[in-house]
Amino acid sequence: MDAPVRRKLKVATTSLAGCFGCHMSFLDIDERLFELLELIEFDRSPFTDIKEVGECDVGIIEGGLCNAENVHVLREFRARCRTLIAIGACAINGGLPAQRNHLSLPLILQEVYQTSLGLANGLIPNDPELPLPLNKVHPLHEVVEIDYFIPGCPPSADAIWKVFTDLLSGSQPDLGHGLIQYD
Ligand code: SF4
Repeated sequence: MDAPVRRKLKVATTSLAGCFGCHMSFLDIDERLFELLELIEFDRSPFTDIKEVGECDVGIIEGGLCNAENVHVLREFRARCRTLIAIGACAINGGLPAQRNHLSLPLILQEVYQTSLGLANGLIPNDPELPLPLNKVHPLHEVVEIDYFIPGCPPSADAIWKVFTDLLSGSQPDLGHGLIQYD
């Protein structure tokens, strides 16, 4: 009798207020990607051209929340992904974008678009299609429940690989010695 065909794990990923560095680290797992792609398939992700997140086993989110669209996408991922993972410092504590949190948003917008050296007649963008910025940058866990965190800026490819191999073997992700980093 033929062995049962194992269903591939469906994985969605996105970058909110992040720099895509965590996604680059994902690609750094190099040739192990071929092995991984035998076991998982990507849904919505910068690695595919799929725009809407479908029902997924795992959602991985890079970046924190700096605008209303980020919050919308995060809630969609939480609703559709059985396991949700925050990857990188920005997703876990706001990271570099949260450096703006000690300044007022109107002041930042004025400085960037109107009063910086070299700007003349600058206008603050107000097209209704632009997502509204939040007053502060927030980490993901302040808005939805997050199942696992992969710290680092970015986390190493080995840490990402370990999380996947743990999930695929049905265990709780455990980074263990040498894979947890905070820079
Ligand atoms: Fe970029 Fe670092 Fe933030 Fe990842 S944690 S999105 S690498 S700044």
